[in-house]
Amino acid sequence: MPGSRLTLYNRKRDFGVTPEPPGRVGKSVGKKRRFVIQRHAATRLHFDLRLELDGVYKSWAVTKVPSLDPGTRRLAVEVEDHPLDYGTFEGTIPKGEYGGGTVQLWDQGTWRPQSTGDPERDLARGNLKVCFDGKRMHGGWALIRLRDREQGFRRTPRHNWLLIKENDEYAKPGDADALASETTSVKTGRTLEEIASRSRNVWHSNRSQTEPESAPKSRAASERAKKPARRKALVKPKPAAKKKLKKR
Ligand code: MN
Repeated sequence: MPGSRLTLYNRKRDFGVTPEPPGRVGKSVGKKRRFVIQRHAATRLHFDLRLELDGVYKSWAVTKVPSLDPGTRRLAVEVEDHPLDYGTFEGTIPKGEYGGGTVQLWDQGTWRPQSTGDPERDLARGNLKVCFDGKRMHGGWALIRLRDREQGFRRTPRHNWLLIKENDEYAKPGDADALASETTSVKTGRTLEEIASRSRNVWHSNRSQTEPESAPKSRAASERAKKPARRKALVKPKPAAKKKLKKR
């Protein structure tokens, strides 16, 4: 089933509330695979790395800014696959929703596996070496999955990986936070604050350009989102019961 890879993505989100795109497996454009990194001011600021692979974005939440120092490893927590539509998303996920906070497009471009083998297989084996051609990410990087016994205690059984810069001409040995000064959107030039204050006005989804929103679906979704309404529905049976009593 082509859509099943995004089931988890869809299950975590209420599209009547969040401006994020609904999960649909996409098609590649051109020969090169895309990547995106989104800077995400959620409970903690992190960097979401997404690599296009077979119609979805394989995704990791990197806990700190990617480091150009080959001696500095960044923890990258594997998260659910994201739709390719997510690659243009910049905006604010409402508080209380999954991933609530502002999302900024921090880098975008293309990537290729360094080996000639199948990147799916390399990912399954927990060792993928990639070459980035982005605006801030360049050259060779490694994604290495930690073994279970190295994971330590975690509440959720998520796979932890390390994102490590390779020692090439783009590396900056000893300068772990060289990219920390890059704090604007690579697409719109906006800061997180500017996105947060204006996201309602400026965010345009791909779907609104290509097709009208499915009205019944989104209405149902927004009704689901209205928690007070849901509470009212829960107490509704009471008046009905009273009426019955009066009739008797
Ligand atoms: Mn995130």
